[in-house]
Amino acid sequence: MKSLQPDLDRRKDERLYRRRCLLSGPQGPELTVNGRPMLGFCSNDYLGLANHPEVIAAMQRGAAEYGVGSGAAHLVTGHSAAHHALEEELAEFTGRPRVLLFSTGYMANQGVITALLGRGDVVYEDRLNHASLIDGGLLSRASMKRFAHGDMSALTRQMQSQESGEALVAVDGVFSMDGDIAPLLELAAICSEKQAWLMVDDAHGLGVLGATGGGSLEHYSLGLNEVPILMGTLGKGFGTFGAFVAGSEELIETLIQQSRSYVYTTASPPAMAEATRTSLRLVQQEPWRRQRLQELIGRFRSGAEQLGLPLMDSQTPIQPILAGSVERALEWSGRLEEQGILVSAIRPPTVPEGGARLRVTLSAVHTDEQVDRLLEALA
Ligand SMILES: *Cc1c(COP(=O)(O)O)cnc(C)c1O
Repeated sequence: MKSLQPDLDRRKDERLYRRRCLLSGPQGPELTVNGRPMLGFCSNDYLGLANHPEVIAAMQRGAAEYGVGSGAAHLVTGHSAAHHALEEELAEFTGRPRVLLFSTGYMANQGVITALLGRGDVVYEDRLNHASLIDGGLLSRASMKRFAHGDMSALTRQMQSQESGEALVAVDGVFSMDGDIAPLLELAAICSEKQAWLMVDDAHGLGVLGATGGGSLEHYSLGLNEVPILMGTLGKGFGTFGAFVAGSEELIETLIQQSRSYVYTTASPPAMAEATRTSLRLVQQEPWRRQRLQELIGRFRSGAEQLGLPLMDSQTPIQPILAGSVERALEWSGRLEEQGILVSAIRPPTVPEGGARLRVTLSAVHTDEQVDRLLEALA
């Protein structure tokens, strides 16, 4: 058994050591971090629902009705009426025949890819896909081909050399560290020609993009025929916790039978499903949250452009500022922290070498003044 300390020390030397900050109190723009008040620009609670009074009340009612623990896996006695109602409401929301809840997005991605592919098949993934899509591909034992970010001709070339087996193309709908939207129209055309599955992980698009919050698919007006597999997470725009897959009857039934990350895990608490049902209603009934986000994105981008900051081409609440080196990203984040502003520095391997950045995220409940404070600190 080797000593673990040298690797930990090396990480520190390379300034890649990760630390957790300690929060007290709820999510929101104003946080208490390590006992100190901070203005946060790094959560994924894009619509400001994580601490919404109606969502909290729904969770409390859910706990009173169902208790806390679900007690078992969905296929044993863990599947409650709350989970079932949420699945039906999400199916309606996404305009798809059926939905299956998973405990986390990480597990949903693993569950889908491993259920549909095996040895002899090929999974094609954008280089900047979320780690859970990459890990799902590796675990499936299919051959894994990664194409340069957004490079449709590279993808087409790779697909041309596949001779047998199933093909599945998986992408983030909105890329989590860059904020750009995947070229889904082109991807849908390529997949339809090659008879390949197209899977979109819309963790950062759902609730945020599209007139009704339908995400990157609504943004491009794409449906089940073009994108047979839609994965969404509930811990970001929806402000709660968990994930789902939406698709055909056959797809969902296959996942129930075959997804090991569905079958062999305890169902999430029913009260969580009740909280999400309320947040789903708010996502649909309060379009002002999306409008407000767009205003804040515009305000932030024009302010940052005036300052000459290296913004990326993003229309979403993910607004990275490219630093390049790890030292620079940490220095920037440290200087902001001194001024009471929390923006995390994202370093390799979460982003490619040389791509360290500040990942600024905006929420519908940030005020104009808070965004201006961020801009002043950045200046
Ligand atoms: C956060 C995220 C996930 C994982 O979802 P969890 O519910 O947090 O496990 C998957 N895909 C993308 C693109 C994400 O950003």
